[in-house]
Amino acid sequence: MKICLFDIDGTLVNTDGAGKDAMIDSFQSTAGIDVQTTAVRVSGKTDRGIAKELFDAHDKILTEEAWEKFLASYMAGLARNLPLRQGRVLPGIEALLEHLAERDDVIMGLLTGNVAQGAYLKLTHYDLMHHFEFGGYGDLHPDRNDVAQAAKDACESHLGHAVDGDQIWVIGDTANDVRCARAIGAKAVAVATGVFDREELAKSDPDLLFDDLADASPLLDALS
Ligand SMILES: [Mg+2]
Repeated sequence: MKICLFDIDGTLVNTDGAGKDAMIDSFQSTAGIDVQTTAVRVSGKTDRGIAKELFDAHDKILTEEAWEKFLASYMAGLARNLPLRQGRVLPGIEALLEHLAERDDVIMGLLTGNVAQGAYLKLTHYDLMHHFEFGGYGDLHPDRNDVAQAAKDACESHLGHAVDGDQIWVIGDTANDVRCARAIGAKAVAVATGVFDREELAKSDPDLLFDDLADASPLLDALS
């Protein structure tokens, strides 16, 4: 049994800024934090971590109440933005997921910095959610390594037994994705469909490196 844990933004889909803009609007409207879109780097981070970073930078405390308020507005904005943007599913993803779904020796989950509801909204919009039965999300953990552990735990609950790190493949578009794979002893696949190019991703030393997943055969071979 192999387990594939997919990142969302820059790996499965590009929402054309629907998520980031909703997040920035919500910081403004619920916390009075004015952020320039260009000043926030969100790639590879968790939603909780981004919120904490911005609150800290503005000498505000991210209480549970502030987080809940931020989140409600962020999710409403995300749902509003998704159909208005020219987002897309990234190359090869639909075929790859459909192929893996048919194999009985592979299961698929999510390992994403998105909060669970945000992951659900994005993947439902792009009709990919049905491929994923479990995941680790960015609701609780500022650090992506903890999300990786949560995804592994969720996988074990889903299967009803323990899994080894070397059964797991983490597929993502940032060095943080590679790093969090290592944190749980997993293999790492980096794909340059997000903001980082191939050269930059190579520095994080993934097991496999792709320009995009239009031809995912090296991954399929590795999963065999
Ligand atoms: Mg990503």
